[in-house]
Amino acid sequence: MAEKPVGLREIWMARTRISSVTQKTPLLYSAELSEIAGTSVSLKLENLNVSGSFKIRGAANKILSLTSEEREHGVTTFSTGNFGMSVAYIAKKLGIDATICISKRVPKAKVDALHQSGAQIEIYGDSQDEAEQRSYQLEKEQGITVIHPFDDPFIIAGQGTIGLELLEDLPEIDTVIGGLSGGGLHSGLGVALKKTDPAIRVIGMSTAKGATMYESIQAGRPIQVEEHDTLADSLLGGIGLNNRYTFDMVQQYVNEISLIDEDEIAKGMAFMLDKHRMAIEGAAASGIGAILNKKVQLGSSVAVIISGSSVDTSVVLDIANRYRNPN
Ligand SMILES: *Cc1c(COP(=O)(O)O)cnc(C)c1O
Repeated sequence: MAEKPVGLREIWMARTRISSVTQKTPLLYSAELSEIAGTSVSLKLENLNVSGSFKIRGAANKILSLTSEEREHGVTTFSTGNFGMSVAYIAKKLGIDATICISKRVPKAKVDALHQSGAQIEIYGDSQDEAEQRSYQLEKEQGITVIHPFDDPFIIAGQGTIGLELLEDLPEIDTVIGGLSGGGLHSGLGVALKKTDPAIRVIGMSTAKGATMYESIQAGRPIQVEEHDTLADSLLGGIGLNNRYTFDMVQQYVNEISLIDEDEIAKGMAFMLDKHRMAIEGAAASGIGAILNKKVQLGSSVAVIISGSSVDTSVVLDIANRYRNPN
């Protein structure tokens, strides 16, 4: 890594910048999960963000940092859904044109929600990579700014504001765990938490159906990985063969990346339904799934990032039927 792209100061600046368009999310102590884990576990409810996920933090920080000329030309992004939703929400709020490029793989709930968000939608190709190419094509043709979903210091700093809120509400925190894909979330958490106390453990959960960051770190360089359908669709997507920031930062800050399978994800979703009466998406349930299945090493004060709520109702009903706790 050529230089340190994001420090604690950038995260504090992000926090101030985004405070007019985002809200602090609650931290919920889970007695049930704590009992199962044998340690104190709290849930950071990023699923309650108005755009449905934590991605609103990075999107807000980036868009609020654009020049007025850039804002006039509009923004575009490519996303499995949640980042697109957040860009659409912030752009609409600030009166900026947004075009969201997504692949055919994005589930119906996300496509419907995007249609209602006021953004223009371009459905293009079978993969994230093709949707991404389309975004850059639009940038070339129309001079609109591409907002990268994770590999950008402003996005990373925005996601890092979660770390500041965790330190406020749980100053004794020693472990954080959440879904890891492009690595914007974990890069931001890593800076906020490890620059406060390097002993805090940062754990990433990736889907076994396409763990690009995990495989890339094994390989020692960004690589491409074949993707398959998964409940944790928000964890799919490449990290970019020319990754600039998050590959190095995840290598530096993340203690452990663990792979989660479909059954474990579903059990995490069912747990949230049964015990906390919340419908969350698969990516957001990956941390709970990991704890329920004792996959990761926990400390004495654990926060789980419940990263988003974008899930088709049909999927929730199916999981409720198949996994519901009989008592
Ligand atoms: C984007 C996303 C993640 C992963 O975040 P990255 O910054 O890409 O690693 C996890 N959960 C949900 C719900 C997401 O939308």
